[in-house]
Amino acid sequence: MDTTSFVKKTIGGVQQVEPALTPPPVNPSLPQKPKLDAGKTKTRKRDIPEGLWTKCPSCATMIFDKELDENLQVCPKCQHHFPIGSRERIHSLVETCSFEEMDAAMTSVDVLNFKGVATYKSKLDAYSKKSTLKDAVVTGVAKIGVHRVALGVMDFQFLGGSMGSVVGEKLTRLIERGTTGGLPVIIISTSGGARMYEGMFSLMQMAKTSAALAYHAQARLPYLSVLTHPTTAGVMASYASLGDLILAEPKAMIGFAGPRVIKDTTQAELPPGFQTSEFLLDHGLIDAIIPRQEMKEKLVTYLDFLTTQKTKPAT
Ligand SMILES: [Zn+2]
Repeated sequence: MDTTSFVKKTIGGVQQVEPALTPPPVNPSLPQKPKLDAGKTKTRKRDIPEGLWTKCPSCATMIFDKELDENLQVCPKCQHHFPIGSRERIHSLVETCSFEEMDAAMTSVDVLNFKGVATYKSKLDAYSKKSTLKDAVVTGVAKIGVHRVALGVMDFQFLGGSMGSVVGEKLTRLIERGTTGGLPVIIISTSGGARMYEGMFSLMQMAKTSAALAYHAQARLPYLSVLTHPTTAGVMASYASLGDLILAEPKAMIGFAGPRVIKDTTQAELPPGFQTSEFLLDHGLIDAIIPRQEMKEKLVTYLDFLTTQKTKPAT
């Protein structure tokens, strides 16, 4: 069977001469979709003009982009939460002009001189250009309602929100600022886990951030962890799951290892939807599910409650 014929026919009718070494498709019974513009693939906007409408992947409604922006990237019809960048998130939570960013210029170093399919250095350059971020977390002190807080917001756009030395160091400094300044800490997580380009150095961040949070807890200051889609692996196994309150956005994927790994290891059938916010709320891992539009108001309520025994900051 000529397994390459599927590919040949679909590329605009142009006859492609495949080299003899072309590997066959993984599943020869299904034609493989040709990658026409692999570098710029944006699946949810592929069929529609850029910057006007977005199709909701959950309910298939076409949403006017302006309306989506105004609704904090939440589908007005089915409440599907689209990913949101760290800057937009901060804007949606803090009082206007109150955010003082910390360590804005800190950038990752290729300490292992990592070379794979692509070098770590080239990945860092590409992602900082594409996302206009320096790394996968933005930290700073801000006011939410009447409360001054130390706020860290992760960004999935930068290398899948992976935690390397910079993410760990920025968050540790943020937590330490909270401890010395008597401030509550809020960290909004989204991450694929530790950044493997940094090997052990990324794994060490789990212990470092957790230790900083232990000192923060000793000072009897509140830490609120907010989990957004997706929060997994090393981040979930360290600071994201250490909150005095652990909150989540609806239908976020939250877990440590992927379902296939867990199934192979435990040799057990896994319950449906076991890595979602809703399942984890039912089983006690998280304390509340809060839609994005209500997040600021709820954070203020929780901070009011958790800081009533302390002197409230002057308004
Ligand atoms: Zn929808």
